[in-house]
Amino acid sequence: MTDQTSNPVSRDPMTGLRDWRTFFQDVKKGIAHGIHAHVILVQLIQLKRVNRKHGIQTGNKLLCDIGEYLKTFDPRYTAYRTNSSRFILLGPDCTQQQAEDAIDRIRIRFQENWPVEGDGVTQEVSAKAYFIHFFLDPRDTEIDLLDKMNHAVSVYLSREKRGILFFNEELTSDMLHKRYILNETRYAVEHKTFQVYYQPIYDCGEARFTSAESLIRLRGRDGSPISPGEFIPMAEENGLIDNISWIVLEKVCEFLGSHPELPLKSVSVNMTGQQVLDPTFVGRIENNLEKYQVEGSRLRIEITERTITDDFDEVRKVMAYLSKRGIQFYLDDFGTGYSNLSSMLSLPFEVIKFDQSLVKMMDETDKGLRTIGLLADIMHENDYCIVAEGIETASQVRNAQEHKLDRIQGYYYAKPMPGDALVSFLAQQAE
Ligand code: C2E
Ligand code: MG
Ligand code: MG
Repeated sequence: MTDQTSNPVSRDPMTGLRDWRTFFQDVKKGIAHGIHAHVILVQLIQLKRVNRKHGIQTGNKLLCDIGEYLKTFDPRYTAYRTNSSRFILLGPDCTQQQAEDAIDRIRIRFQENWPVEGDGVTQEVSAKAYFIHFFLDPRDTEIDLLDKMNHAVSVYLSREKRGILFFNEELTSDMLHKRYILNETRYAVEHKTFQVYYQPIYDCGEARFTSAESLIRLRGRDGSPISPGEFIPMAEENGLIDNISWIVLEKVCEFLGSHPELPLKSVSVNMTGQQVLDPTFVGRIENNLEKYQVEGSRLRIEITERTITDDFDEVRKVMAYLSKRGIQFYLDDFGTGYSNLSSMLSLPFEVIKFDQSLVKMMDETDKGLRTIGLLADIMHENDYCIVAEGIETASQVRNAQEHKLDRIQGYYYAKPMPGDALVSFLAQQAE
């Protein structure tokens, strides 16, 4: 079958609706003619539950019935099934109000059950869905369209709970901003243009700075700083975090190698639990230490709870091996994850870093203060050393010392700084 411009129309075999490929073709054709259009994305949820409860055949029949409904919903719209649980309606340009009315009609239909027939019986099946709406801009490329859909779905999943998401200007600029950050991150990975800063950590027992954490810094090509809080999660989502961590680790080893007299016992590097499981992990660390002539005991690895997802036994083995070489591990951001505490504490960590959110509890209520005290006691009984993160005020320092939190990292003592500044900072402290 062909359409007017003789592009083949491919169809979803189950529902007979046009498929993803044809959707793109149709959109491109519309865009080429400068046509404004709008898209309603109907995303089914809990389809697996329908299959489990009513059987796969009924699930398939439900999809066909939904397809039929969307096909005949309104003659001005074309219906597509673009993946197993996603339908799309492509309609003509309209006002925001008209789009809302159209979605409302569909939403109301989805609030009712679908009478699905099979084997002479009719089952009443409930199909849950959420709806995303956006206008197509004639300047949109295919990539824009894909980005819009992916961004809309991820925004929907992260914050929208009402069932409908309108992809408005705010979301468009949010998407463009994310795209900018991802591009800058990719560029920096390719050209290794990240900088590494160091934040000194104060040891309360020794009354001096004995360690530092390395923290990555990125500037866009226009010179503006991009916060790790923004680009690190995106790097994780887009498979760039591995490269980034190795770039930082190498820069840290290079820095330690060129400053053998640095009056710090160690510098820590942030890595992920997944990286620890990489068979090349140990070898790459050893190569870097050797290349820059750095003792293993000067390096520490920080791992957050949330990145240790499974295979505790293997993680434990790697940690034990590196610990023997003097490279100890810190459990980062303790207090922010929900994972199994006993599994986590069965790993040979040297240090537990209390996250800033936990530390802040000390300021808020007596209960918070007591909780930190109890947690600190448990950690000390198990021979862990504690670093309190994000300490900003004198009263937090007092509380931390009262509860015998061993080390303090925070703006109160020092902000992260470039390597040269760290060298001068530590020299000044020694005077
Ligand atoms: P993190 O590893 O928990 O690092 C501590 C964060 O707390 C740093 O934020 C640091 O600048 C900030 N901080 C320290 N003291 C204070 C304080 O007193 N107040 C406040 N408000 N913040 C304080 P930063 O540098 O923005 O990094 C954020 C996160 O990004 C890090 O959290 C870490 O998870 C990640 N990250 C940073 N550098 C790297 C890296 O080289 N590799 C990887 N994989 N992740 C990194
Ligand atoms: Mg850290
Ligand atoms: Mg942390």
